[in-house]
Amino acid sequence: MKTVAVMSGKGGTGKTMVAAGFAVFSQQRLLLADCDVDAANLSLLLKTSDTACRPFMGLDCASIDQSRCVGCGLCEAYCRFSAIDQGDDGVFQVNPLKCEGCAVCTLVCGEEAITISKRQSGEVCHSETPQGPLYHAELFSGSGTSGMLVFEVKKDALENKEKLPAFLIDGPPGIGCPVISAISGADAVVMVTEPGISALHDLQRLVTICRQFGVDMFLVLNKADLDKERAEDVKRYCAQEKIQMIGTIPFDPAVIAAARRGETIADTDTPAAISLKEAWKTLCTAMGIPQ
Ligand code: SF4
Ligand code: SF4
Repeated sequence: MKTVAVMSGKGGTGKTMVAAGFAVFSQQRLLLADCDVDAANLSLLLKTSDTACRPFMGLDCASIDQSRCVGCGLCEAYCRFSAIDQGDDGVFQVNPLKCEGCAVCTLVCGEEAITISKRQSGEVCHSETPQGPLYHAELFSGSGTSGMLVFEVKKDALENKEKLPAFLIDGPPGIGCPVISAISGADAVVMVTEPGISALHDLQRLVTICRQFGVDMFLVLNKADLDKERAEDVKRYCAQEKIQMIGTIPFDPAVIAAARRGETIADTDTPAAISLKEAWKTLCTAMGIPQ
């Protein structure tokens, strides 16, 4: 099974539109994962059913056993994350949104009143879609564990029993920890960009990461006709870096309107949809994925 991650150096380039379009254009069922866990929306575009979720236990977090606490205040004084406060009632409490699980408070508490345990930071979910099983997640606000959650989504997806020809990942934007988690183990990355100086800069940073993972790289240039000069810059860069451009998608307000209705680009009869369908075919041919 080939693993393809659809990524973008920055948000807002149309990455999820491309990933959802690929899923719908595929004649085969695919294994699908939405690893853009900070803004998961693939499940909004694909028609999901039978959703089942499990808790995602993220970072360690301290908790205070009030029956043991004598109110000395040492934990508050030593917590460098200001995660422990004394309330108006005099009780010391841990703020789970600030606690980093460093366990310093357990070392300074002479009453052994503090314990560290995992706290729930989100959910990992499985849904059925007409395009194949979709694994996705919700990260609770204030939980900075996106990279771990991406790992969990991929892990659950890879335990899926159905034999499928390709694993298609809608990856997170940027170049941080969740991106590295999403690219890890992939055979190919499809980078989605748009013409523009900052978009090209972000693309170059993403290419640097992809090179370190040794993945095949492909590029979809979205909204290519909005700035023809900058579009040529992207094409020149791809030629120089030997990155295969598989699609040049024209700007099309109908695609944006479709997304607002919760539909994919494949639901539109537009030049953009035709271009993306060709991009999927080209990718499949290059990667040996049955169309
Ligand atoms: S260090 Fe221990 S005993 Fe002192 S306030 Fe904190 S929890 Fe209570
Ligand atoms: S585990 Fe660390 S961050 Fe959390 S409350 Fe204790 S000292 Fe503060």
